[in-house]
Amino acid sequence: METKTLLALAEEFGSPLYVYDAAKILHQYARLQKTFMKVENLRIHYAVKALSNISVLKLLKKAGAGLDTVSIEEVQLGLLAGFSPDKIIYTPNGVSMEEIEQVAALGVQINIDNLSILEQFGAKHPETPVCIRINPHVMAGGNSNISVGHIDSKFGISIHQMPHLLRIAQNTGMHINGIHMHTGSDILDIEVFLYAAEILFEAATHFKELEFLDFGSGFKVPYKKDDIETDVEELGRKLTKRFNAFCSEYGRNLTLAFEPGKFLVSEAGYFMAKVNVVKQTTSTVFAGIDSGFNHLIRPMFYGSEHYIENISNPGGKERFYSVVGYICETDTFAGNRRIAEIKEGDILCFRNAGAYCFSMSSNYNSRVRPAEVLWHNGKGYLIRQRETLDDIIRNQVILEF
Ligand SMILES: *Cc1c(COP(=O)(O)O)cnc(C)c1O
Repeated sequence: METKTLLALAEEFGSPLYVYDAAKILHQYARLQKTFMKVENLRIHYAVKALSNISVLKLLKKAGAGLDTVSIEEVQLGLLAGFSPDKIIYTPNGVSMEEIEQVAALGVQINIDNLSILEQFGAKHPETPVCIRINPHVMAGGNSNISVGHIDSKFGISIHQMPHLLRIAQNTGMHINGIHMHTGSDILDIEVFLYAAEILFEAATHFKELEFLDFGSGFKVPYKKDDIETDVEELGRKLTKRFNAFCSEYGRNLTLAFEPGKFLVSEAGYFMAKVNVVKQTTSTVFAGIDSGFNHLIRPMFYGSEHYIENISNPGGKERFYSVVGYICETDTFAGNRRIAEIKEGDILCFRNAGAYCFSMSSNYNSRVRPAEVLWHNGKGYLIRQRETLDDIIRNQVILEF
């Protein structure tokens, strides 16, 4: 999106503000679809937890996406957005048997990731088709190292537990219709992903009634100029070939599923905040903005480096700044970053603010959460109002003394 458009939106809707570019979301969706064009049945389930605004869900529904959900509330948001239950997959971790039963009763595809629940569910509902989340024990590391073995992950059923898994399936007579994996990390090397896929294919041969294979997500997106990203085009070419070959061996045309979150929405998002104060100390210059980790926690939580631009002074002479928030704790967005000269009142724009930004925001310090705007066909649509004090006190039960 153009700087002047973003600046105009910040003026119109106030700061801090989240803006999402609908065209970029649709572009990413189409890109993934295109690279897997030669797979007969492809399903892309958008991972709701990345950005769960209902208007964004509706946009992706229009594009033909399904949803990947991790809580019953996300399932309900999806239904509110108009998705039919059979377009939703539910991949929780550590939730109760009751919640899984409630979601299954809605007609949503459930995905089970532990043997205990699998056994209980299979015994009670042998007629409900279930997908199994496998843990292939493969992690995509910074340097194509493959670590296979005993990884301390709470996710998925270990491939080493396959005999036990098969015994449960057999004893309960349950119907396993899908196999799933989600390694979770930013994939830098597609060979690692393909290696994990081989483990999934091998696991799949144990089940005779499969309808789909779900390869999860973990596509890495660029965070700055010349940053590395997952080469989805190459992945598409290679995995398509392998997948189609597997289907002929298996004797049935399966559906290939993915569940990207970050890939679809990260780069579409812009977060804008106003500089309240420029504070020169003996060691650095702080730019203090009207926001904090209550609105964008990723730098503090994961050490994420979001590119920051002074859109009030584009092309201005660059200086070094530490960009900090107003929360009364260490609240650093960026340390010693080159940014075009900042004056009080300027609007800073954070890139890659689509995924895991608003959806992880909170009311810490009793601050209201920002508004959200969807930029679509040359117009900015308000898709969430800025909160007010009423939102903060809504559920409080106030005692009088
Ligand atoms: C979070 C999650 C995703 C999405 O991951 P991204 O890195 O945002 O693409 C997909 N599947 C499952 C099961 C998840 O928990």
